[in-house]
Amino acid sequence: MAKRDYYDVLGVAKGASADDIKKAYRKMAIKYHPDKNQGDKEAEEKFKEAAEAYEVLSTPEKRQRYDQFGHAANASSPNGGGYGGGGMNMDDIFSQFGDIFGGGSPFEGFFGGGRQSGGGGRRVARGSNLRIKVRLTLEEIANGAEKKIKVNKQIICKTCDGSGAKDKSSFQTCKTCGGSGAVRRVTNTILGQMQTTSTCPTCNGEGSTILSKCNVCHGDGVVRGEELITIQVPAGVSEGMQLSMSGKGNAAPRGGVPGDLIILIEEVPHETLKRDGNNVIYDLHVNFVDATLGTSIEVPTIDGKAKIKIDPGTQGGKILRLKGKGLPEVNSYHRGDQLVHINIWTPKALSREEREILEKLQGSPNFKPNPGKNEKSFFERMKEYFE
Ligand SMILES: [Zn+2]
Ligand SMILES: [Zn+2]
Repeated sequence: MAKRDYYDVLGVAKGASADDIKKAYRKMAIKYHPDKNQGDKEAEEKFKEAAEAYEVLSTPEKRQRYDQFGHAANASSPNGGGYGGGGMNMDDIFSQFGDIFGGGSPFEGFFGGGRQSGGGGRRVARGSNLRIKVRLTLEEIANGAEKKIKVNKQIICKTCDGSGAKDKSSFQTCKTCGGSGAVRRVTNTILGQMQTTSTCPTCNGEGSTILSKCNVCHGDGVVRGEELITIQVPAGVSEGMQLSMSGKGNAAPRGGVPGDLIILIEEVPHETLKRDGNNVIYDLHVNFVDATLGTSIEVPTIDGKAKIKIDPGTQGGKILRLKGKGLPEVNSYHRGDQLVHINIWTPKALSREEREILEKLQGSPNFKPNPGKNEKSFFERMKEYFE
């Protein structure tokens, strides 16, 4: 049997908006829903047909392919499934309904019957997220760090094991909802009987009530306490970055899902090294005699001291690059460099003897600044640095 045009099936125009398609499908789904048309084969076929049309037209890529090739594209598709609409069973169709009818819509209950979808069922409490700050030195950031931190938070009550009840017999199935956590209300509408589902007000959706509460937590199942948490901080993190540990936040009342622990990274400023992204900058001061004659100097790095060579005739402003002596990137093997800025140090106080020596040199032609073509300008050095 030839398939009908999907647009015709839903009764919309070719250029219909996503919203119009959704609305049209909603109408069809209500009209031909099996709960309303029990035993009606034709209605069931129409219901399936509409679901298939919706499945294709509500997915932008599938719709585009359908607009271009029509049903032919489906048949020639290598995986056989094509649009994925062809073999939809009832469960697939019902699983779509969460998107179409949304939570809290009156249709949720309408389609209820034996199936329960979406909200209104037993509600699980969730603990709140917790935020803490972790301060790290550059060395810790470079190597990654394991931090043990005492966190003050809601923890599970040990006395009642988080149940909130004095003992097991203290639990009673909620009389209002019979344990389902949800209450239904039936109203008559033009579409027939319609059920709305909402969270049970007596037990707040938990399905049971506590007759005698735990003495320690007074029924909450949680108490204020401390937990020693071990945090693995990966190498390369930076100031302001947030890490999240699932389930390490506040415990939830009565056996719910705990919140997350959010860890905010703070950098402890280093005494001598400055961070710039993954690079580390060090300001080195060399006196003009060492810069003139050349020498070797020890500089601090993240991994300890390193010796660097100052060539004879080194000019101020030169930047030496220590490859790989910077910081790693998070989740990468790449490591930044250390950049050593060379500043020429001019002595401020001189002995008589030193002054006499320098006075002899003052007029010397070698001491006349003469930046040649080989001397890099400030601008060129900056450019080199940022590369
Ligand atoms: Zn307790
Ligand atoms: Zn209840």
